[in-house]
Amino acid sequence: MIVGMRTGATPEEVDGVVQRAKSLGLDVQLNLGTDKTVVALLGSNTGQLSTDIFAVLPGVEGVTRIMKPYKLAAREFKAEDSLVSINGIEIGGKRIVVMAGPCAVESEEQLMEAGRVVKEAGAYILRGGAFKPRTSPFSFQGLEKVGLELLARARERFNMPVITEVVDPHDVSLVSKYADILQVGSRNMQNFALLTSIGRSKCPVVLKRGFSCTVTEWLTAADYLLAEGNNQVILCERGIRTFEDSTRFSLDISSIPVIKRASHLPIIVDPSHASGHYSLVPAIAKAAVAAGADGLLIEVHPNPKEALVDGLQSLTPSSFAKLMEELRSVAKSVGRYI
Ligand code: PEP
Ligand code: MN
Repeated sequence: MIVGMRTGATPEEVDGVVQRAKSLGLDVQLNLGTDKTVVALLGSNTGQLSTDIFAVLPGVEGVTRIMKPYKLAAREFKAEDSLVSINGIEIGGKRIVVMAGPCAVESEEQLMEAGRVVKEAGAYILRGGAFKPRTSPFSFQGLEKVGLELLARARERFNMPVITEVVDPHDVSLVSKYADILQVGSRNMQNFALLTSIGRSKCPVVLKRGFSCTVTEWLTAADYLLAEGNNQVILCERGIRTFEDSTRFSLDISSIPVIKRASHLPIIVDPSHASGHYSLVPAIAKAAVAAGADGLLIEVHPNPKEALVDGLQSLTPSSFAKLMEELRSVAKSVGRYI
């Protein structure tokens, strides 16, 4: 249930709602907006409560029932777009933030070369996996702590924030020492212990869409992060499983405007895992920006032919630089910039 307070409602009136909710055993989340305060009431029994219980309280403008399973990620809870600030650059504003780099950190030489080329082309954030949750246990699993140390060195050298995946709830504090943004992979979107642990860390996080999950399940998973008080949540559409097998996954381009309507959270797109092939990445990346994505997560490898993971979908430095040029004009045509 969402309780909207009147413009100018006093702190005592807001507290009256909070205390009434607590007396009924509900959890409360406050959104102190610039104009209006909105109070989300969370609990399994809200469906049985009359909205009048809160509508009669002083300072209350209206009470809305949210039948959707997600609450904190909903636009009804927060009308204004959320911005996630990474070293002073905002994700979710006018700027399209490009995160690029190799699928996996493989060596110092590979990562430093990747950092150099993506920075030169205009990427703002360096990506690289140190913990790789692979479909097969026999595939390369990443350099783990050594990979994190290399990322820290690249972050220093290029003055770039880094994003890297965390797989195990017990590794959240370790990984967040090295990463500016934690990545939750598609396979872990509904790993609720991991989400709770990342929520408590308050570290900025990219929540990738589970490839067999609906938008509703995705936003409900985001509530696990938000419920722990972590407001630095960025969604990432990375393609879903459909009957179509000409691409690795099917990019659900419509999820971008759907998310913009349903949620206040920023959304970026990963065209690399969606398509699975380097030749398809540029068109999908441009389509994502045209459709309203707030950023992109793109795999770039100094030498894709030698990549240990995802070489087929990785862009070469020169094709990435060309794409960045093209993206600048697409961004401009939709009133954004890179
Ligand atoms: C990745 O970004 O390297 C990755 C493994 O992506 P996903 O979780 O979307 O498959
Ligand atoms: Mn990959």
